[in-house]
Amino acid sequence: MGQMEQQWEHVQDRLRGEIGDAAFRNWLQPIRVVEAHDDAVCLGVPTRFIRDWVVTHYAARIREVWAEVQGAPMEVSFVVQPVRRGASGLAEPDPAAAPEVIAVAPEPAPPVDDAMAAPLDRRFTFDSFVVGKPNEFAWAAARRIAESDIPPFNPLFLYSGVGLGKTHLMHAIAWHIRERDPGRTVGYLSAEKFMYRFIRALRYHDMMNFKEQLRSLDVLMIDDVQFISDKDSTQEEFFHTFNALMDQGKQIVISADKSPTELQGIEERLKSRLGCGLVADIHPTSYELRLGILESKVEQIKAEQARPDAADIIVPPKVLEFLAHKITTNVRELEGALRRVFAHAQLIGRDITLEGTQEVLHDLLRTRERHLTIDAIQKEVAQHFNIKIADMSSPRRARAVARPRQIAMYLSKQLTARSLPEIGRKFGGRDHTTVMHAVKKVEELIQQDTDFAEEVDLLRRMLEN
Ligand code: ADP
Ligand code: MG
Repeated sequence: MGQMEQQWEHVQDRLRGEIGDAAFRNWLQPIRVVEAHDDAVCLGVPTRFIRDWVVTHYAARIREVWAEVQGAPMEVSFVVQPVRRGASGLAEPDPAAAPEVIAVAPEPAPPVDDAMAAPLDRRFTFDSFVVGKPNEFAWAAARRIAESDIPPFNPLFLYSGVGLGKTHLMHAIAWHIRERDPGRTVGYLSAEKFMYRFIRALRYHDMMNFKEQLRSLDVLMIDDVQFISDKDSTQEEFFHTFNALMDQGKQIVISADKSPTELQGIEERLKSRLGCGLVADIHPTSYELRLGILESKVEQIKAEQARPDAADIIVPPKVLEFLAHKITTNVRELEGALRRVFAHAQLIGRDITLEGTQEVLHDLLRTRERHLTIDAIQKEVAQHFNIKIADMSSPRRARAVARPRQIAMYLSKQLTARSLPEIGRKFGGRDHTTVMHAVKKVEELIQQDTDFAEEVDLLRRMLEN
């Protein structure tokens, strides 16, 4: 295999992680290197349809990733090059078919799975969803929809950062409806899958059939709608379909990583329609919620295991507290860390301890802790708020210095391995309960005040880089 083919495989691997297996199979997997030079490559795409989609959706990212892989800018172009299956099962260029043939010959619609529902994750139910302040509104809205025969609000628009439970809630709605009323049909699709089906129907003049399928649904859920950003007429058509479904009284549930107004590449009209029902966001997790989720995941992990000794495994509260303090990004990472700790203990056959946990998660925690000291945090935070570094350890209690001090304590807890008493000592010999109170207070403010949350997040990112 040539060097460029190898690089393309690397690029593909990276992108598979980013866009998910299904989208990867549909769009990127069939692409082959056709022509390669040192700083330019030409990729062969099996059909014009795929080429157009790949060019608008993935080309920029392919160039970026490729430049990273090879360490220099890369010119990437695309040609339509039909492929046939070789005896090896691998796609091979078909020398008999010139690209023009594709443009002239009408393409028969390729067969696809016709079910409107992607498979649902069995673990994503309401029972396994832990409710806390940051997600209770979204949860309550999801619950209402799952329990209503007619749409209580339409559409429901869920949004949050990654890994905070949007997909979980959507699947939970579907499971609940299936169980309560098997006669009702629920469709759940990723936005990419939906757009793929949709554009395909447009292209093959199969819209009637597609709309018929949609009409047969009682509830339609489209996940990660931020991936729908297409300039041409598809959005227009999508808009009408969307309106028609709403007029027919179908419940629609949409998720995205941003609020409707902040969505990019989506027409104003569509944005306002998306936001005209109930908009519910899931906030970043709080310490309490993370702890609750960890406790519930411990039970879940034990239940999943066939081994009889799994039930006896004890996860000390200290370990859960440690994880809840350190892994604040999202629930997916939190769960991943817990699973690693579990797997490690079982493999080694030892009890789960705090030391063991720190060791297992060494790489995960290290990036943050490598250079970061409490002194550095104090300095950065003091500069940011324009106060003296000495005020970090002074007894002054004026809000103007007390709040930044609390933020610095909070960041010290999150970004270093120091214990509460150690942090207290660094802040003018304060008691560990003072530090604990500061951490709580800052978490509370992060929940209540978006500006505050952004400011703390900004500080964190400056410190981490
Ligand atoms: P999103 O779709 O917002 O990116 P997911 O719904 O995929 O996030 O959630 C990521 C992981 O975290 C899933 O395994 C999910 O079960 C879990 N998770 C998220 N929020 C909760 C919660 N409140 N309770 C239990 N598990 C949760
Ligand atoms: Mg999701």
